[in-house]
Amino acid sequence: MNPALNEADSPFDLALRPGDFDEFHGQTKVKENLLVMVEAAKMRNEPLDHALLCGPPGLGKTTLANLIASAVGSRLHTTSGPQIERAGDLAGILTNLQERDILFIDEIHRLHPSIEEYLYPAIEDFRLDIIIDQGPKARTIRIDLPPFTLVGATTRAGMLTAPMRSRFGIPNRLDYYTTEELQHILLRSARLMKVEMDAAGASEIARRSRGTPRIANHLLRWVRDFAQVKSQGMITEAVASQALTMRDIDETGLDEMDKRFLEALIHKFEGGPVGLNSIAVSVSEDASTLEDVHEPYLVMQGFVKRTPRGRVAMPAAYRKLGLIPPVSGQP
Ligand code: ADP
Repeated sequence: MNPALNEADSPFDLALRPGDFDEFHGQTKVKENLLVMVEAAKMRNEPLDHALLCGPPGLGKTTLANLIASAVGSRLHTTSGPQIERAGDLAGILTNLQERDILFIDEIHRLHPSIEEYLYPAIEDFRLDIIIDQGPKARTIRIDLPPFTLVGATTRAGMLTAPMRSRFGIPNRLDYYTTEELQHILLRSARLMKVEMDAAGASEIARRSRGTPRIANHLLRWVRDFAQVKSQGMITEAVASQALTMRDIDETGLDEMDKRFLEALIHKFEGGPVGLNSIAVSVSEDASTLEDVHEPYLVMQGFVKRTPRGRVAMPAAYRKLGLIPPVSGQP
């Protein structure tokens, strides 16, 4: 998997994380919706409504949760679905909350169903019903919780259970960023890192960043090192292009695993349709990583199509690998 996407919340990411909504570039619609929510809560002097943020990794879900919390002046508590293993873990987190605090649960689709059951009354009625003891001695203890806000984040809105989805309002879907948006983000990052970079250099890195700010920032870090050694520190289009080519990052931003995905689909499975699990075995990668990280970008770029029978290679995928696409209907 792309190493940049494994390094969530590294000190480097934190240093470049926007500190207020004005510094958060792109995702205009999501930003507008969240700002309305924030203003409405402030005007009513009530806790913020629960919110769900969906989208591939590295697009800014955690950043937005932080921005929401600071906009309403609330404390943010961060955890993730897999970290909450037992009901006791959830009880510990919930009983620590103060009024109007924000609880951010990343990867909320990975919460255990039994934990979800405890969470529903907590977010609906601010109460926690805990069962103590087993068998005939079992009894329920009710704990009242202060009104708080749950912000959930998921890379897979489709995997959320229907009851969980219905607890949130309209989901906020984050999309891949345009090259122009990433260019803007990169120029800001370069200023913070005190790196000299011209607009064309930023645009070159942006084009190869898979529409993802976290990747853009990590590529910038590599290009900065390259520029320091090879061109007295200044990042131009040519320097960025050389640096990224050296790391096998191509002009459309496809990384090693993206290319292996396409190669497997075309060479081993004759262009599909083929199930994602078969591709995962063939490229030795976790199917969920392929589904969360690689496939959405390949679909967005028009290389792969998802069909009810499986994944299919599109003509652009053949051309990407230097092959002639098969005549339609005869893969
Ligand atoms: P996610 O939670 O969706 O995986 P993050 O919020 O952790 O993504 O974002 C990863 C990094 O990318 C952040 O630390 C920040 O540096 C950068 N980033 C994300 N979105 C933006 C944005 N809109 N503007 C500037 N930087 C961003």
